[in-house]
Amino acid sequence: MSKPSRLLDQIIKSGRKLLLEPEAKTVCQDYDIPVTRFKLAKNEEEAVKYAEAIGFPVVMKIVSPDIIHKSDVGGVIVGVKAVKEVRNSYKEIMKNVAKHKADAQIVGILVQEMAPAGTEVIVGSTKDPQFGPALMFGLGGIFVEVLKDVTFRIAPITEAEACEMISEVKAYPLLKGYRNTPPADLKAIAKILTNTSKMVMDYPEIKELDLNPIIVYEKGAKTVDARIILE
Ligand code: ADP
Ligand code: MG
Repeated sequence: MSKPSRLLDQIIKSGRKLLLEPEAKTVCQDYDIPVTRFKLAKNEEEAVKYAEAIGFPVVMKIVSPDIIHKSDVGGVIVGVKAVKEVRNSYKEIMKNVAKHKADAQIVGILVQEMAPAGTEVIVGSTKDPQFGPALMFGLGGIFVEVLKDVTFRIAPITEAEACEMISEVKAYPLLKGYRNTPPADLKAIAKILTNTSKMVMDYPEIKELDLNPIIVYEKGAKTVDARIILE
């Protein structure tokens, strides 16, 4: 039986362990997980062309197998609003990366649609040595990093279990909406969780998956950063 992601099949076959952001996002698309539109530019001219095709504002990011945390090395510039800024940002990212990680192999610069502000959540998967793949859910930023407000389930999960996961984090009231913040699309989050569950069940080769962050709106959600590591 053939599996849903030809790209992931190929990478597994090649023996490579780390998927680049555009690769991880393509695998997400194979599982119906919404991601920001993106194009991989190999030079400044391509970056300009792709930014115009995607439409301003765009986000530009370094793509390198040697750089896992892109913003730590000045490898992410958001809110790029015009051709001139694309050119400056391209040079700026290359300069930052050369300064912080001179020996990094550079694949290119990912030009992508800038997702509007919304509520940031994260979906992750790690492998439990005894129970296999587990899924993780939480709200982004301080909720995960400082408060460790996250919840776990062993995969596979049903839609009902995905909804349970969402409602059991302490920050859940924020997703339900408060003051000026509209309620977030809980169905869209649940669907991302169940689709991620399918992915990690189909591919036991996935050691770690991180959709961080996913920006959630009143209607719909968009994954703006994706990382997949294979065993
Ligand atoms: P890192 O490798 O540092 O985690 P990210 O791709 O997550 O890099 O980018 C850093 C931050 O920039 C994200 O947490 C998010 O807040 C913002 N960001 C990245 N991509 C986008 C995008 N397409 N639209 C809007 N914001 C983005
Ligand atoms: Mg990230």
